[in-house]
Amino acid sequence: MTDKLSLTDAEWRERLSPEQYQILRQAGTERAFTGKYEGNKATGVYMCAGCGTPLFSSETKYNSGSGWPSYTAPVEADAVNELTDVSHGMARTEVRCAKCEGHLGHVFPDGPGPEGLRYCINSASLDFVPKD
Ligand code: FE
Repeated sequence: MTDKLSLTDAEWRERLSPEQYQILRQAGTERAFTGKYEGNKATGVYMCAGCGTPLFSSETKYNSGSGWPSYTAPVEADAVNELTDVSHGMARTEVRCAKCEGHLGHVFPDGPGPEGLRYCINSASLDFVPKD
């Protein structure tokens, strides 16, 4: 299990871009089809934009048509935490980075893999590191 990263609000504002802050720290959502990784097909690993923890791999990324980067699984089950989210009049499962508790997106039970899960993640919550 990873150690927690806990920063003050001022430190997060310093570290993150305004868009990253709004999504990671305020549970915002980027507009569909606007994120930089939605159509990214390169091989590599997607790190948490807040703390650098590896969260998702290109190996589990697929085109869900939703407008957000979509994965069938995280790189490690304990890299993310899943929480019940009843905001906006919906019952959803929120996905957060286990280390910094940054908001990543949501997970839905309509994915194509063996687990049947779709991790629907904001590009702004991720930093892609290509494999060379
Ligand atoms: Fe993180």
